[in-house]
Amino acid sequence: MHIHVAEHPLISQKLTALRDERTDSIAFRALTDELVILLSYEATRGLRTVPCEVVTPVAPASGVDLASPMPLVVPILRAGLGMLPGMMRLLPNAEVGFLGMVRNHESLVATTYAERLPNDLSGRQCFVLDPMLATGGTLVAAIELLFARGATDVTAICLLAAPEGIRRVQESFGDRVDVTIVTAGLDEKLTDRGYIYPGLGDAGDRLFGSAGY
Ligand code: URA
Repeated sequence: MHIHVAEHPLISQKLTALRDERTDSIAFRALTDELVILLSYEATRGLRTVPCEVVTPVAPASGVDLASPMPLVVPILRAGLGMLPGMMRLLPNAEVGFLGMVRNHESLVATTYAERLPNDLSGRQCFVLDPMLATGGTLVAAIELLFARGATDVTAICLLAAPEGIRRVQESFGDRVDVTIVTAGLDEKLTDRGYIYPGLGDAGDRLFGSAGY
């Protein structure tokens, strides 16, 4: 497993604004969008390409195009949806699969309530969007599902991660398979209620409101 904590003044500044409890949902969504564009740039460094030729107004030129099959982007509902527009801005040719997962507030165990993914993911580079890597339960379950469908190369893009979550992903997959985590920040710890500390609170609520849940 590889972990990449993106270090850039713009990423740090946007993450700080995202943490701020005074940031409302409108600003939170806009900041998430900008952060995801910056993180996706890092996360797609290993994107597979094929050589191609084009003709410029001056002369023929050699370049690259994205290799087939196209990458698959998988936002984990609900909060991962807030990361989708930024990712698609950078990777408009990607296809999108959906995974609905919810963690029980008491046990912190993740269960899948919705799934819309191709049956065969062999040869696909997969990008999972999950803003908060907390206990790691949700991300591990999502990655296991993708590997069970034949994926061999999975990158998770997270806004924030906790050491406990990173450890759980590392223990689950080790170096047997190709898993990369790209995050804007690695925080101190988890609270006893499973929140990232100091974190930014509930990412889904801050993006979309609590809608009376
Ligand atoms: N999910 C969140 O939205 N926030 C946390 O801090 C942990 C999990």
